[in-house]
Amino acid sequence: MNPFKGLPEATLIEDPSDLEPCRRDESHLRGTLPLALVKPHGPAALRELVRRAKAEGFGLVPRGAGTGKAGGCLPTERTVVVDFSAWPGEARVSPQDLCLRAPVSVLLRDVKAAAEAHGLFYPPDPNSWESCSLGGTLATNAGGPNACKYGMTRHWVLAVEALLEDGELHTFGISSVKANAGPSLGQLLIGSEGIFGFILGATLRLTPLPRERTTLLLPVKRWEDLLDLPGRLCGAGFLPSAFEFFDPAVLAELRAHGPEEARRLPGEALAILEFDERGSTSDAFLEGLLDLLGPVAEGLRVASDVRQREGIWAVRRMTSAFLKERHPKKVSEDIVVPRSRLRDFFAGLDRLGFPAVTYGHLGDGNLHVNLLAAGETDPALLDRQLMDLFRLAIDLGGTLSGEHGIGLAKREAFLALSDPAQIQALRALKRALDPQNIFNPGKVL
Ligand SMILES: Cc1cc2nc3c(=O)[nH]c(=O)nc-3n(C[C@H](O)[C@H](O)[C@H](O)COP(=O)(O)OP(=O)(O)OC[C@H]3O[C@@H](n4cnc5c(N)ncnc54)[C@H](O)[C@@H]3O)c2cc1C
Repeated sequence: MNPFKGLPEATLIEDPSDLEPCRRDESHLRGTLPLALVKPHGPAALRELVRRAKAEGFGLVPRGAGTGKAGGCLPTERTVVVDFSAWPGEARVSPQDLCLRAPVSVLLRDVKAAAEAHGLFYPPDPNSWESCSLGGTLATNAGGPNACKYGMTRHWVLAVEALLEDGELHTFGISSVKANAGPSLGQLLIGSEGIFGFILGATLRLTPLPRERTTLLLPVKRWEDLLDLPGRLCGAGFLPSAFEFFDPAVLAELRAHGPEEARRLPGEALAILEFDERGSTSDAFLEGLLDLLGPVAEGLRVASDVRQREGIWAVRRMTSAFLKERHPKKVSEDIVVPRSRLRDFFAGLDRLGFPAVTYGHLGDGNLHVNLLAAGETDPALLDRQLMDLFRLAIDLGGTLSGEHGIGLAKREAFLALSDPAQIQALRALKRALDPQNIFNPGKVL
């Protein structure tokens, strides 16, 4: 019997040609053909899906907008993709409680816009913020340029609504920053990549919208000069709300083949710095910054208006897609090291000796190391290169993923390189919350 027949409150897709697109996300991987794709419109669909998954022994793979870079939403053997794009509801702001409640289907850009309409700010800003869903950002604990000042998604989540293995809807957390009645199950679900259950919505913490913002372009002749700057700035009490960079190879490629704005970017390497505290647009602030930066600030430019700022950020946001279009088989990693170890990291990368280009979130040590020639590299050699890269980051006190998560792409490395006690504890949690392994099987653990 067809296990999906008569599923309530749902759109069902079973035609193999219509299922093709959900075998992809923005990683280099491709999933197997799922049994079906279901778009739930209400809890009855999920309750019934969970019941049938347990009875028939198939897995349930949650999917948001499919912009993930770790293969987390790709179908594995005998799974159904549960696409949350039609999950009902809308974003609602409570200015008194400084919070916003939204369902997982809302795009992150609409969450941010709803907060801004009330003069409030929801900081998490993955560079995919115009296209990714709130659900995907919760399940991956997404970060972005702002993370160096504001932290990751989890730092902005007060409560999580989820449907667990019992098929019921639960809310973990309350609409207040103070809630200490035991360990937080809501926080356990943030960043869990769909392996413990379905996230259906969240209550998010907001803060007043910054009233001032200064955006700076810092071109340098020797790109190594950038590496000490995040640590020096923080040590001197300057906390950028973003500190991004392009190494010489990425900048040269953007300048030669990128859009109009990219062709005008200065320097051999380039950093984008942003400050958003009160006073950050004053002359005194800029003078203090110039004093601290010293000779490296020779070419510093202030973005003159909103248009120029948006142009700079548009280039930064399209860098990943741009490199992927030019090098379709590239592998992009997102290791992180403490900002005080950036110089050691690049010295180590040099010693490893494989060709890699880098850009990303220098301000918090989260670097997108791209192996452009991955498609032409022997797979066994590529695996060794990636493991060497991850070990380098870990040995410097960092980790193998700063924001994209583990999914399918980094599962083997995660299992091989993590503290066995951590893996054992996570597996025990998985067994307790999902004893039949129906939620996103084959991912992370
Ligand atoms: C150009 C580009 C730039 C990017 N920049 C950043 C960046 O700066 N920072 C960053 O962190 N990421 C970045 N990403 C990666 C990606 O956009 C984020 O991880 C985003 O949060 C994924 O959201 P999504 O809706 O596309 O999720 P999907 O890709 O659909 O899913 C991601 C994971 O979440 C799980 N999931 C989705 N919905 C649910 C749910 N309702 N319940 C339980 N589990 C669920 C899936 O199973 C999967 O494991 C970027 C991607 C692109 C293409």
